Amino acid sequence: MNRQCKLCPAECGADRTTENGACGASNTMRVAKYGLHPYEEPCISCKNGSGTVFFSGCALRCVFCQNFELSRARVGQEVTPERLAGIFRELEEMGAENINLVTASHYVPQLLKTFAIYRPKIPVVYNTHSYEKLEALRALDRYIDVYLPDMKYFSPKISARYTGKADYFEYAGEAVKFMASRAPQFEGDKMVAGCIVRHLVLPLCTNDSIEIIQWFAALHSPAYFSLMGQYTPYGEIEKFPELSRRITPREYKKVRDFLLGSGIENIFLQELTAADTQFIPDFDEKTKTLF
Ligand code: SF4
Repeated sequence: MNRQCKLCPAECGADRTTENGACGASNTMRVAKYGLHPYEEPCISCKNGSGTVFFSGCALRCVFCQNFELSRARVGQEVTPERLAGIFRELEEMGAENINLVTASHYVPQLLKTFAIYRPKIPVVYNTHSYEKLEALRALDRYIDVYLPDMKYFSPKISARYTGKADYFEYAGEAVKFMASRAPQFEGDKMVAGCIVRHLVLPLCTNDSIEIIQWFAALHSPAYFSLMGQYTPYGEIEKFPELSRRITPREYKKVRDFLLGSGIENIFLQELTAADTQFIPDFDEKTKTLF
């Protein structure tokens, strides 16, 4: 992987020992922030917050990314597997409900080294855009308790427009199918194993959302489906005028009503009041920033 990286479906072939790949990552992990995050689904954040580790870089790079500075690898500090293991321990000591790896798929080999050094005592959550190869997911699977995958786009035209990747669903469909097969388990109100598939409704994309819901319903998986209405204009969207507004109540209602009638039983719904920049992770005193 290091000399000619083909870890993710982008297969950019970068020599990560001497350069950064299309995801912005070199051979050494970079972490931008870590801390206790209260805005995940209630069964993930629970009382103390999710022990979130935000990695720098991203292989998908949506133009409207709500973590833009992180996904473009503009911020972050290099961390060795030993240091990341130390961050896991630190989050446990802070009272984190789980260790939540956010957009870490371009660092799978480094994560495997980290888990060999220290395996957290609390559940490990894998939070991903789902533009993943199955081989990478399988390699990591025994260390992951809860999957938190996004299912972003159904239409190749839409994914090509917002990420440059027409094959998003081709890969994400298989990846989410794999992750969604994990049966949910709870300890009290806390999910300790399972999968929550997330979907963010975009302006003018309600039909794409409905395709995704239909596809997910047909899987008959035990996973939860989390519908999010928090889209906030952000990132490099000057060339995409349709992304310059939030979704309307009418757009959200159309998708929500379809979801409620889809036969999917385990659902999280985010209210539209969540459409605020407060949900773009900035952080408070409980967060360590590694810039
Ligand atoms: S993980 Fe990064 S470096 Fe590797 S193929 Fe994907 S984009 Fe390229």
